[in-house]
Amino acid sequence: MSQSYPCGVRIGNGYDVHALREGLPMRLCGVDIPSGKGFVAHSDGDVAIHALCDALLGAAALGDIGLHFPDSDPRYKGIDSTRLLAEVIAMLSGDGDPSGSPRFSICNVDITIALQEPKLRPYIDTMRETLARIMNIEKSQVSVKATTTERLGFVGRGEGCEVWATALIVPKEEYQY
Ligand code: MG
Repeated sequence: MSQSYPCGVRIGNGYDVHALREGLPMRLCGVDIPSGKGFVAHSDGDVAIHALCDALLGAAALGDIGLHFPDSDPRYKGIDSTRLLAEVIAMLSGDGDPSGSPRFSICNVDITIALQEPKLRPYIDTMRETLARIMNIEKSQVSVKATTTERLGFVGRGEGCEVWATALIVPKEEYQY
């Protein structure tokens, strides 16, 4: 039986942090970033996609990334996080879900990445294109922003990366995009 949602438009936020270590690969929003450091993680460490998944799941009240893809599960060891995002999109769109729970369209997503270095400006466009393709939406619906923390805190010392994500979704039955 389908749940009712008195307010059609729904918002979600996501937050994630990963530590940086010399010699590991760095991938953000599905894009490989040349860097001397990369993310310590069970998966590929794409901290931006993890925050985005949590924003999308949060908007749909479907739990969080740790619930669906536990880091204790060897199936997710080293996994390409774009696959996790694709699974989250399938959950939201109701693909293969016979329960009749609401199916959602994504209105837009907005991501802020706090990283001291390298500068992410050259990669932002490719990140937006990559995420839009995985989410089956337009690039104009995907915003990716980057900031340093002016060398303050663990981000500023180059010890980690912090990401915030926001997602706005709407039931497909109510609005067609
Ligand atoms: Mg994570």
